[in-house]
Parts: sequence; C-alpha cells; structure tokens
Amino acid sequence: MSPQSATIDPAAEMIIVGQGICGTFLSYYLHKAGKKIVVYDAPRPDTASKVASGVINPVTGRRIVRTWMIEEVMPFAVDAYRALEQELNVQLIEQKNILDFHPTAQMQLAFEERLPQETQYLKKSDHPAQWQQYFNYPFGIGETNPCWLMDINTLLMEWRKQLKQHNQLIEETYNIDNPPASTLNPPPLTIFCDGVAGFNNPFFKSLPYTRMKGEALIVSIPHLPRTNMYKQGLNIVPWKGDLWWVGSSYEWNFETTAPTASFKQKTIAQLNSFLKLPYTVIDHLASERPANMERRPFVGLHPLLPHIGILNGMGTKGCSLAPYFAHQLAAHLVNNEPINPLADVQRFTKILSR
Ligand SMILES: Cc1cc2nc3c(=O)[nH]c(=O)nc-3n(C[C@H](O)[C@H](O)[C@H](O)COP(=O)(O)OP(=O)(O)OC[C@H]3O[C@@H](n4cnc5c(N)ncnc54)[C@H](O)[C@@H]3O)c2cc1C
Repeated sequence: MSPQSATIDPAAEMIIVGQGICGTFLSYYLHKAGKKIVVYDAPRPDTASKVASGVINPVTGRRIVRTWMIEEVMPFAVDAYRALEQELNVQLIEQKNILDFHPTAQMQLAFEERLPQETQYLKKSDHPAQWQQYFNYPFGIGETNPCWLMDINTLLMEWRKQLKQHNQLIEETYNIDNPPASTLNPPPLTIFCDGVAGFNNPFFKSLPYTRMKGEALIVSIPHLPRTNMYKQGLNIVPWKGDLWWVGSSYEWNFETTAPTASFKQKTIAQLNSFLKLPYTVIDHLASERPANMERRPFVGLHPLLPHIGILNGMGTKGCSLAPYFAHQLAAHLVNNEPINPLADVQRFTKILSR
C-alpha cells in the first residue's frame, strides 16, 4: 500500500473505508445523523458493487426458499433506495419481476410443488404464450413477484458527487499500516466497508470469509421487452442504457479474478439455446463477492478495539442487506442501539481476540 498523503479534516468523527454499497449507505445514514465523516475510496472499475446486476429476489436456490430476513430487509431497502432517489434526483429502483423459464421438467415440478406453500412471492405466469417470440421454454414459466432492480452504478456515482461536494471524499487507498494524521484523541472511529480487500484487513482477516467469483456478459438485445428480468439457468437483467446484464457464475475455485474465455463460451451457448432474438456481446465483467461461510453479514465494532468497526460480508445479497445493516450500524454508533446478534461481529469475539 502507498503511504497516506491526505490529512483528514481534524473535525472528522468517523472514517469510512470504501464506497461500495456498504460504504455508500453507511455514509448516507451517518451524514443524515449529523456526523462529521470522511470516506476513503480509490476509484476501481471492477468492485462487487459495480459489477452486480442489482437484483433483490425474495426467494433463492433450487428449493426456492425465502432469503434470510427478506420480510424485513426488502421493504426497508425499497424505502431506502426511494429516499435516495428523492435526495439525489435520479431513478435508482424499479419493480421488475423475474420470469423463471424452467430449464428442466424437474425444476418445473419443484416450482409447482412450492407454489401452494409460497403464495406471497411465487405465481404462475399470466400469459405464458406471449414469450414464445423471444425465448425457447419447453417446461413453462413461473413468476417471482415482487422483485426489484437497483441501478447501483448510478447510486455510487451520484452519492460520490455529494460526498465530494461536502468535502467528505478522499479518492485514495486508506493505508491501514500508516493511518492518516488526526488531532483527535482517541482517534476517529474507523469503519471498514472494504469489500473483498477485507480478506487481508489485519483487524478482521480471521473472520470466516470465503472466496466467490462472479462473471457476467453485457449484451445488446434489441426488441427484448424491458418489463421483466428473465431466467433460465442464467439471468438476463436490464442494465445501463438499452443493454442487458447476463450472468452469473458462482465460482469458489479460480485462478484469476479477471473475465475468462470459458465463462464467455458457456454463457453464449446458454443464450443461443434460450434466446430467439439476435444479440451482440458488448462487454465482459468479473469480480469477487465479499462472501462468508455463514452467509450472514459482519456488522459492528471490533470486540477488542472499540474505535474500529466493520460493515462487510454481504455475499450475494448486498443490494438488500446493505441498506438495512448500514442503518442498524449507524443507529448503533450514534445512539447505541442494538445490532441483530446474528449479524453483529461481536459473535466472533473469540476468533478476533487471537
Ligand atoms: C457478478 C456479481 C453479481 C452480483 N449481483 C448481485 C445482485 O444482483 N444483487 C445483490 O444483492 N448482490 C449482488 N452481488 C453481490 C454484491 O455485489 C455485493 O454483496 C456488494 O456489492 C458488496 O458491497 P461492498 O460495499 O461490501 O463491497 P464493494 O462493492 O467491493 O466495495 C468496497 C469498496 O471499498 C474500496 N476499498 C477497499 N479497500 C480500500 C482501502 N484500503 N482504501 C480505500 N478504498 C478501499 C473498494 O475499492 C470498493 O470501492 C453480485 C456480485 C457479483 C460479483
């Protein structure tokens, strides 16, 4: 890491390291609470938040079960993105339900068996024949409703402008070994929202992180209706402008974090069998997710170092979990409100005390 060149505002009470989804929402809530904050973020194109499709899907996996805490985190996230839309005067969120074109007869059966049990989020598609001009789907269509699509890149960019306007952004890598000079004693609270860089963060690297890479193709598909997100093994999700995001992989063992020819080849083969429309591949993205073995976030203050904190470990669900837990962490830092014990990093006191 490079030596720290910036000296922070001597009045800064809190330093936030990283401006992905976590750092964005945490800085937003602390700023709203009147705290004097400084955010460090060195611009990088391939962070998890910039590569993410931006989907909140209330159900997950082959068994189509509800995702953790979805009844609380999804409505909270929708309100949070809408509040930021008002504040930043941009569109950030739209309801776009997922049409699930079952890839096999077994998956169709699994969906139909879940339908009577999961009446809140699962439906049969209203007019299944209307999609025949766009897709091949011999095993029918299910719908997940409601699902939400966030424009995370616009959120990060617009919030960054606000931070700059308030002189709250330092576009540099925060050097943990050589922290910036501050006149405060004790030093300002430093909260790490550093995503996958947290795997090597000396304060938190013993947390049970796990590596999980994801890749996506950015594709132009003229004439495909932008009313929905589409799924058949892979997800086809509206992206910037009139483009589509197509992915993703979930890779636990990989030699490179860069985009790979094998993902591109496999995805093109899947697209060719699913999609009836012509398309052009425009770009290819890849990033690691800040995942962990427990699939629960890391939120709160270090058990031994009360001026050091963390908001990380969002895994595959940053869009829904980050607003909720950033709010909870801000309320903890400002008003000493409790953090959900299943997310509180204090649950790792033993590991973090070694
Ligand atoms: C292919 C893919 C698809 C995904 N799709 C979805 C989806 O549809 N829905 C969903 O909910 N989630 C999705 N995710 C997961 C989601 O992207 C993550 O959960 C979320 O973005 C994590 O946000 P973060 O703020 O913790 O980390 P990041 O986005 O990685 O942000 C960390 C930031 O900290 C900065 N940083 C790190 N160290 C330092 C330092 N020392 N100094 C200064 N800056 C530093 C980094 O540059 C970065 O800007 C997807 C992920 C991938 C890879």
